[in-house]
Amino acid sequence: MYQRLPGKERIREFLLRCDREAAEEVRRGGCPRCSGRLHQADYPRKPRGDDTNPDPVFRLSFCCGVEGCRKRATPRSLRFFGRKVYLGLTFVIAGVLGQGGSGVGAGQLQKLIGVSRRTLRRWRRWWTTLFVESRFWQAARGRFQTPIVAADLPGQLLDRFPGNAHDRVIALLRFLSPLTTSSLPESPAL
Ligand SMILES: [Zn+2]
Repeated sequence: MYQRLPGKERIREFLLRCDREAAEEVRRGGCPRCSGRLHQADYPRKPRGDDTNPDPVFRLSFCCGVEGCRKRATPRSLRFFGRKVYLGLTFVIAGVLGQGGSGVGAGQLQKLIGVSRRTLRRWRRWWTTLFVESRFWQAARGRFQTPIVAADLPGQLLDRFPGNAHDRVIALLRFLSPLTTSSLPESPAL
């Protein structure tokens, strides 16, 4: 699946464009607490799981300009995954491939995405424990007519979205994006 995806550079640009659009919407909406004007206040993140890009990547974010409020508003992101600073895409792909049955061994996977076996195991555990128990998943899983087997996450979830490998990964990232921020009122907490 990984090999059939477009180049990393193009994906990175595309995800950044999606993040910019989401950020613009949040900025237009104003401060979630007092409706005050939001100021750009991005913060740098060093993406792990992507060794080809050693520079910090900026998580788009805002800060309320009203004295005494100053609430931060961080838009949803397709590039970052919550407090985990791994690029969302890498995280999802690693989860799917790490499930096994994909014909990709741990060694190859390590080369493809540059993460250790231990990291992969941790990510797998995230999907089968924290994610499954999250309020987000408890609410969202009802949307699928045929129940999704927890042990088959995230592969089975990915399979429920239409389109080619690229379309499905993007759809899955969008589906998961409410998990990437806790600073907006409609965002569920893990
Ligand atoms: Zn405010």
